[in-house]
Amino acid sequence: MSAFNVAKFGGTSVADFTAMSRCAAIVKNNPYTKLVVSSACSGVTNLLVELANGVADPNERSSIIEKIRGIHVAVIDQLQQPSEVTEAIDEIIVSITQAAESASLQPNLKLTDHLVSCGELMSTHLLTQVFVEHGVESLRFDIRDVLKTNSLFGSAEPDLEQTREQAQKLLSPLCEQSVVITQGFIGSDSEGSTTTLGRGGSDYSAALIAEAINAAGLEIWTDVPGIYTTDPRIAPAAKPIPEISFSEASEAANFGAKILHPSTLLPALRHHIPVFVGSSKAPEQGGTWIRDRVASAPLFRALTLRGNQTMVTLKSINMYQAYGFLAEVFQILAKHKVSVDLITTSEVSVSLTLDQTNTAGGAPQLPIAAQAELEQLCSVKVEQNLSLVALIGNNMGQARGTAKQIFSTLEEYNLRMICYGASNHNLCFLMAESDARLAVQQLHQELFE
Ligand code: ASP
Ligand code: MG
Repeated sequence: MSAFNVAKFGGTSVADFTAMSRCAAIVKNNPYTKLVVSSACSGVTNLLVELANGVADPNERSSIIEKIRGIHVAVIDQLQQPSEVTEAIDEIIVSITQAAESASLQPNLKLTDHLVSCGELMSTHLLTQVFVEHGVESLRFDIRDVLKTNSLFGSAEPDLEQTREQAQKLLSPLCEQSVVITQGFIGSDSEGSTTTLGRGGSDYSAALIAEAINAAGLEIWTDVPGIYTTDPRIAPAAKPIPEISFSEASEAANFGAKILHPSTLLPALRHHIPVFVGSSKAPEQGGTWIRDRVASAPLFRALTLRGNQTMVTLKSINMYQAYGFLAEVFQILAKHKVSVDLITTSEVSVSLTLDQTNTAGGAPQLPIAAQAELEQLCSVKVEQNLSLVALIGNNMGQARGTAKQIFSTLEEYNLRMICYGASNHNLCFLMAESDARLAVQQLHQELFE
């Protein structure tokens, strides 16, 4: 095991010169932090996605590019030695301009990944120079040489073996010499084309890299001091959680606690790497530790909300006392690479929700071809404007009276789908997007305050 930590800084943590200087101070403070994984500067990925979706009007395109340039130039303006970075940023802006024009004619996922990767490519140039000027010996590294993925543009899957091999060969020796600053979110396929791991993927990158170099710890620096009992913007009485188990935290991340990308914890869990989540704005406030073993296992740990849900209901009279229907349904979904999140079944119908994975954002769509094939088998109904509320905790299925306490709080609401009992750590339900915030507030008050 390497004696060092990987630190990941999110978009708001590298939003501007001041924010980047705070990152430098955090890394300087801990001599064991040797590898830094950075997001794009706050807001930049969204602007790049806009360009990648195709902006037809050349003036509008220029104004978006100008905004992107402005964010980076504002940092450059505060550097003591701006010249090298200026050149690098200018080059990337030229490449963005060309790609944005191509996208305006015909957007595609490969081009999208090429475009959106520019955010991290730029932020790491700036961050490295800021670190150097703060007296942290650092160098910038292009992670595309290490993080190898398949060619599923927009939500590429890592090749763990190759990534480990490359990381040990190229990254580990560098970390012995100085702090290495590299990009989150991006990788490359076997052809060398740039890929991305899906929106918010920098956490996942950091965890994959930590796994590949056998890091001792993973620090996730963001804009909130750790994981809370629920999003404090929804319920102001939400409290920070000092320590949480991997199982609870992955459920929370999965169900929309926006603080961590859902896949982040898998690599950390596989290699028993403790994860710390804290605020780069207020590192002194501490944060949340996610570990294998934790001191307590409370009945209710956290409450999460995830919007943009797509629910698909399949009904078939042939399902009655038949076998093989679900198998057929899942075969079709698998063939079209549709990832299912939740599922409930009754004698003649199945309801399921679709996973949100893609870089392009929005509610996940059931591909037309998949729908057509399903319709050969049964009736298909697709609904949107739904939110998923999840209660995370321990042994909720076994504690008496739990269901009553929860559902009596939610009496007023129309719950579209309930998943209870499949996991020891969660209980979740789907409801109208317009009801969900209030439901979370009421549940938080009842169970946590
Ligand atoms: N910059 C990417 C995004 O905004 C990745 C990340 O920040 O984790 O989705
Ligand atoms: Mg982010």
